[in-house]
Amino acid sequence: MAPSRPAPRPNPLAKRPASLWYGLALLLVLGLVQAYYMTPPGRSIPYSEFKTLVKGGKIAELTIGDQLVRGTLKDEAGGDKASRQFTVTRVEDPKLSEELDASGVKYTGEVMNRWLPELLGWIVPLVFLVAIWGFFFRRMSGAEGGVMSFAKNKAKIYADDEVKVRFTEVAGCDEAKDELKEIVEFLQHPKKYTNLGGKIPKGVLLVGPPGTGKTLLARAVAGEAHVPFFSMSGSEFVEMFVGVGAARIRDLFQQAEAKAPCIVFIDELDALGKARTQSPFGSHEEREQTLNQLLAEMDGFDSRKGVIIMGATNRPEVLDQALLRPGRFDRQVLVDKPDVKGREAILRIHIKGVKVGPDVDLKVIAQRTAGFAGADLANLVNEAALLAARNDKTEVDRRDFESALDRLIAGLEKKRVMSDKERRIVAYHESGHAIVASVLPDMDPVHKISIVQRGFGALGYTMQLPLEDRYLMTRTDLYNQLAVLLGGRTAEEIALGEISTGAQNDLQRATDMARAMVTEWGMSDTLGAVNYEGAKRPRFLDVGMPNERGNYGEETAQTIDVEIKRILSDAHNTATRILSEQRHKLESVTLRLLEIEVMEGDELRTLLA
Ligand code: ADP
Ligand code: MG
Ligand code: ZN
Repeated sequence: MAPSRPAPRPNPLAKRPASLWYGLALLLVLGLVQAYYMTPPGRSIPYSEFKTLVKGGKIAELTIGDQLVRGTLKDEAGGDKASRQFTVTRVEDPKLSEELDASGVKYTGEVMNRWLPELLGWIVPLVFLVAIWGFFFRRMSGAEGGVMSFAKNKAKIYADDEVKVRFTEVAGCDEAKDELKEIVEFLQHPKKYTNLGGKIPKGVLLVGPPGTGKTLLARAVAGEAHVPFFSMSGSEFVEMFVGVGAARIRDLFQQAEAKAPCIVFIDELDALGKARTQSPFGSHEEREQTLNQLLAEMDGFDSRKGVIIMGATNRPEVLDQALLRPGRFDRQVLVDKPDVKGREAILRIHIKGVKVGPDVDLKVIAQRTAGFAGADLANLVNEAALLAARNDKTEVDRRDFESALDRLIAGLEKKRVMSDKERRIVAYHESGHAIVASVLPDMDPVHKISIVQRGFGALGYTMQLPLEDRYLMTRTDLYNQLAVLLGGRTAEEIALGEISTGAQNDLQRATDMARAMVTEWGMSDTLGAVNYEGAKRPRFLDVGMPNERGNYGEETAQTIDVEIKRILSDAHNTATRILSEQRHKLESVTLRLLEIEVMEGDELRTLLA
């Protein structure tokens, strides 16, 4: 990377808003004006001198205020009128008027004209303060909606033609699409359904893992039906002020009713629709009020008007049951991760704007991306395009996709060089996985073995390429899978007589799998076909008892531990048997791997044959 120049430091004065300067200038002018008016005309003389003047009969006239006495000397003193003027600070002198009468001075009392000093001394600072306050007030409520614009509704109104998404841009979730097509029908011809007495559903909840296209689908429904689309995210309702979220909901529904038929879409519904329970972290007053308001609005309005509320969540299990009742989000549409065909179709959508070389086979990429959601696939295409651009290619070819995929799967390639000893350990480890996976029947064929270090913690990997998506696994499959997972560590044991920390992730996955076999899938003969975990496993930070576990006793817990251990040691034995039988193959594969670092599945099979 080229050394970067330091960014120019912002001038602190340049950014100060002009209004502040105007304010300061105004204050200065007012100060000068005040100084001018407050300084009375004429020279100021001491009171004693003033008394002498009075007694000497030198004064023509006097104006006596409550603090100041202004006077003019008689003409005989000489000079123009201005120079004959003088002021005296008044002193408590009850006899003054008698003396003035005696010497025949013309004098008047004066109520001091105080509006100007008053104004300057009191009102102006106040005005100034208000101005400053207003300035910061505006700033706080300026960008990002700010603290003060809380009551305004942030939902954007999309006009009919603004939603350009169509169903053709969504792939790999055909069942969800079919269900949503019905909603489009409802929106377009509500009469057709209500005439027969049917009720149009009020709420449709899209449920599925992140990145599977829920938001996209909701927009596509609006796009297909040509109706306005109001969308807000659940987290936008959760504000720091109690009652604001509820006000927003009210607003949103008012706007929506005015625009019916239309769609109101609340994304990430779980943010506001979490079950209302007592949480150990205090109450959630605001969220509960918002949720209650949502429930009330959903009950209150009439679906015949054609407002359909859509929600999306990837954690339906935390939603408040009240949300799922009939009359609310009573329809649930599952948006699942795509299968091979779906992945291929999604890739096809996303390469539309990309120049792709003739050697790119989307079918192969789809096969290699089991478990990817739509968003991951979109990301993959983008990464590949970026890689090709970086290498100044005119089109994106197969190698770009391969590198992008490797990168996505195992993280970015690391620059640190491994020591020879570490490389040997990793090579034996990965060869162990690969050989066990190749020898055992019915395992996904090995696609690639790599000892190129990638990302954090991944020193190498063995990638198996499933021929088809699996929905079910038999107990034998699982046992074999465990043997493959433990194969890496076993190879280290056999070849080097030593084990390393590199197998930690394998062990964890193997243990999780063995535990699930025992406690969830009823695959242990000792414990029998019992599910000990209940309907779902507790999730991190969910409301509920910490460390919740299935309702079984201490004795069962022990039996479970024993069973897990037995299953794991069975798998370990299998791996040991295979690798001992294939001892020389383990050596040859490891040697070759150290040489070329990345081995394709075909070469592995030739070596093993
Ligand atoms: P979700 O809301 O389920 O988390 P999104 O709808 O935000 O997922 O998807 C993010 C992006 O991923 C979309 O904008 C789209 O580009 C891509 N994507 C996700 N699923 C699909 C799909 N089924 N078909 C096509 N593109 C998809
Ligand atoms: Mg989304
Ligand atoms: Zn491993």
